[in-house]
Amino acid sequence: MPELPEVETICRGLRPHLQGRRIVRVKVFEPRLRHRIDPGLPACLRGQTIIQVDRRAKYIFVYLERKNVWVFHLGMSGKLIFVHPATPKQKHDHIVVTLDNGQELRYHDPRRFGLSLVVPEAKLHELPQLRDLGLDPFDAQFDGQYLYSFTRRSSRRIRDLLLDQQVVAGIGNIYANEILGRAGIRPMTRSSRLTREKVERIASMIPRVLSEAIRWCGTSFSDYRDADDQFGEFQNHLRVYDRDGEECRVCPSTIKRVALGNRSAFYCPSCQK
Ligand SMILES: [Zn+2]
Repeated sequence: MPELPEVETICRGLRPHLQGRRIVRVKVFEPRLRHRIDPGLPACLRGQTIIQVDRRAKYIFVYLERKNVWVFHLGMSGKLIFVHPATPKQKHDHIVVTLDNGQELRYHDPRRFGLSLVVPEAKLHELPQLRDLGLDPFDAQFDGQYLYSFTRRSSRRIRDLLLDQQVVAGIGNIYANEILGRAGIRPMTRSSRLTREKVERIASMIPRVLSEAIRWCGTSFSDYRDADDQFGEFQNHLRVYDRDGEECRVCPSTIKRVALGNRSAFYCPSCQK
């Protein structure tokens, strides 16, 4: 599932292809995503020039000239990729967008958990999907104090708290484990038992780990590809995630795996206390 670094990588890949381009035509081949695509979507987008591409957490925002925003969420397996129009349409290419330079942007999503809709810019952050999101980890207001305000009153395990999109938006299981690995904190620690100092350490590690992953263009385990259909490389730099049985990259201990809820957690028993 794409997490924040993958979505940021996709945005960076989309910008040079999309900004300043005019949308000539939009064809929807399969409207049945998790939220059904509005039948009026193609007509609403046709003829509009794309001003800017941005994101908040895992939501991609394509800002359009008529003060509206085309919002995407990639769900479990969504991809936004550029192709030459002669490229045969693939199974699961649900939306095909033709740009004024002849290039095509295709939304491909085998599991169809994605989201694609247009909203007026003024109403963007009132969308039910966005209204309750916690701070984006790159928001200037995100810091140790903010995270501590959640940990001190939560008995949940810290790995699960980091996965809560209403606390910090954009982190999934891969990065939650990596952040705790680098902060030296075990994933099963109860949040309320963490000292202020430890929470500060975790909070400072969040943007650092995510930035590093963005520099490697994200993590590709299965479906994820960037806007040019390329793999990310951060999977080669993971310290703990999916490395159970392997040697820690810092000490001679072996990385352990534990079942936490329905998702595994990974940690080094020596480096993480
Ligand atoms: Zn270690």
